Amino acid sequence: MRRKTKIIATLGPAVANADAISRLVEAGMDVARLNFSHGTHEDHEQNLRWVGEASEKHGRSVAVLQDIQGPKIRVGTFPDSAITLSAGDEVSLLSGEDEAARGEIFIKYLDRVANLGPGDVIQLLDGRISLEIASMETGIRATVIQGGQLSDRQGAAFPGLEVDLPAITDKDRDDLRAGAEMGVDLVAASFVGNAGDVRSVRELTDDIPVIAKLERTVAYRALDEIVREADGVMVARGDLGVELSWAALPRVQKDIIARTNAGGKISITATEMLESMKGSFRPTRAEVTDVANAVFDGTDAVMLSAETAIGKYPVRSVEVMNVICREAEKSPELHLIAEDTFIAHAARFPSAIAKAAVEVTHNLGITNLACFTETGSTARLLSKYRPAADIIAFTNNEPTFRRMAGYWGVRPRLIGRHETTDDLIIAAGDALIAEGAVEPGEHVVMVAGIPPNQGAQTNLVQIHRVGSGMAGGSARRG
Ligand code: PEP
Repeated sequence: MRRKTKIIATLGPAVANADAISRLVEAGMDVARLNFSHGTHEDHEQNLRWVGEASEKHGRSVAVLQDIQGPKIRVGTFPDSAITLSAGDEVSLLSGEDEAARGEIFIKYLDRVANLGPGDVIQLLDGRISLEIASMETGIRATVIQGGQLSDRQGAAFPGLEVDLPAITDKDRDDLRAGAEMGVDLVAASFVGNAGDVRSVRELTDDIPVIAKLERTVAYRALDEIVREADGVMVARGDLGVELSWAALPRVQKDIIARTNAGGKISITATEMLESMKGSFRPTRAEVTDVANAVFDGTDAVMLSAETAIGKYPVRSVEVMNVICREAEKSPELHLIAEDTFIAHAARFPSAIAKAAVEVTHNLGITNLACFTETGSTARLLSKYRPAADIIAFTNNEPTFRRMAGYWGVRPRLIGRHETTDDLIIAAGDALIAEGAVEPGEHVVMVAGIPPNQGAQTNLVQIHRVGSGMAGGSARRG
């Protein structure tokens, strides 16, 4: 069995050359993440070109995900680029991103925090440093609870407090423009708070699917509307684990994945999945279990961040993830469709067809499920019903071909235009035989929208005997 769960790997200095990126693809990277919080547009464009070359070299579709920084709350700068804070120190907090004088810290968007008051906690540096508001009478004064070294522009969070953040920043606008010009396939929107924020990003993306990164408590509260608006949701455990209690993360992760899948959208689990592999050749047992549990939770994709961007073993990290996912996928429960599962809100007819097609493969033990798709949405729906069969998604649209690399269990294939459904089905069957996926005479379940090339909704399921030269082939009893 091929791996179904898709692997996203973040590019960065550790893999900044054509050979390293080629080896990531060979090891199993399905989606390359360009993190626009770091690097220049030129760096990202060069990486994107190397991904394209590697994809061609290995004959596999690989998608490129542009991750925009969003309105991240950060501290300003310091005279020597860092300060040391000790428990019990008192500091003055100011709103902005400027350079602080002694005893001060600037925090961006501090003036947008609702109801900030004594006793409230501010987490800095992913929660490794914490401050507590002491008084608000003459400016905002805070006491250091947990000290440490704080350097320029580190992240800050206000757990439990609402911050009125803008949906996107000028940098995001600029980055989205550059990403669209480079030809990225998917966009991940950071720090969205609600569906309106996702819409604001979507309006600037030129039809590129948008993944909403769930990393704020307000966003978790608005999950259902975000799932409706976005094309996917990422459980961004780094920042979410600072805003929420980290102890709540496993429960929240399960909930986000379940509700995203029920909405028919892509679910991604991210951050610290193989963290120790930044410096170690092998993962810890806990990390192996974490990746496997994300697969059991039903995630479509698992993501590597620092492990591949700046780690010592980037290729090995992808190899390890590949092995863990494959092993976890041996669990038969992954492919059981609950009787009452029906992904209906966007596409009732295509959903009914997709569910029926997957049931046919399960009932007849058919191992290949082919579909024809213009936008990729049929492939995504089939994938959501978690077939044990491989989903071979044929398209004549190149962006769709690349983007489907991120869909669970989907193997994208390019196919030329055909005037009739029969021709399309026969051509797809022949292509599957040619690549050795099926033997002549084997059955494949085909899903299509007919008539072809007219934007018809998915409305056909056919059990096709490949190589018979006829659409449908024999309906031989067996
Ligand atoms: C996260 O916070 O988990 C995340 C994926 O976001 P970033 O790595 O961009 O901070």
